[in-house]
Amino acid sequence: AGLKIAVDGPSGSGKGTVAKLLAEEVGLPVLDTGLLYRLTGAVALQRGADLADEAAMVQVTVEMLDGLIWSSSGIEFHGEKWTDRLRGEEVGAAASMVAAMPEVRARLLTLQQQLAGSGCIMDGRDIGTVVLPDAPAKFFLTASVRERARRRWSQLKQMGRRCDFDEVLLDLKKRDQRDRERQHAPLAQAVDAIAIDSTTLRVDEVVDRMLGILER
Ligand code: C5P
Repeated sequence: AGLKIAVDGPSGSGKGTVAKLLAEEVGLPVLDTGLLYRLTGAVALQRGADLADEAAMVQVTVEMLDGLIWSSSGIEFHGEKWTDRLRGEEVGAAASMVAAMPEVRARLLTLQQQLAGSGCIMDGRDIGTVVLPDAPAKFFLTASVRERARRRWSQLKQMGRRCDFDEVLLDLKKRDQRDRERQHAPLAQAVDAIAIDSTTLRVDEVVDRMLGILER
């Protein structure tokens, strides 16, 4: 109890799926921090607010936090489940735009640290570096960009969304670049994180590797 495990990595690296399975194995709740940025982006889109206007996005973040319940089972906003409608590419792109704003990130930081308090697996981009720098276990998941695009593409297809592979690949590259190159809390591997390349591994193989490392 009280154990904190950070799982970071780029889009499509499989961190969400892996974090969930690992959470079941070790009996900890799992918190997906991407949902916070996604909900902020989705609310901004819904309002028709200017995604490039930082002051407006901070306002949206404050309103978002006000109606939010965030837990292992996903995200609720003003009593409604939002998790499923946050999965699309449009929301993902909006999320990565608001995520580049330092003031937006600052507003979300406290909540993440508070909820991690009693132990959890937290997945995101800056968990090992910024949110939980003292976490005793940190993983950084990677995979080739083509493999990540392939996973995202088949996920979108399963959700019944029409999509073109090359478009998905291009979107992913754009999002990667924005996440890695932003000034504030970019996607980065913590010095004490263990990297796992999942390009040719199945999900259960990745989880097994993590369990092996945790047992050490
Ligand atoms: O992980 P997911 O694809 O749901 O995250 C959506 C976007 O939110 C990412 O592209 C990234 O820009 C942002 N994000 C972040 N920091 C996190 C989690 C997500 O900047 N800890």
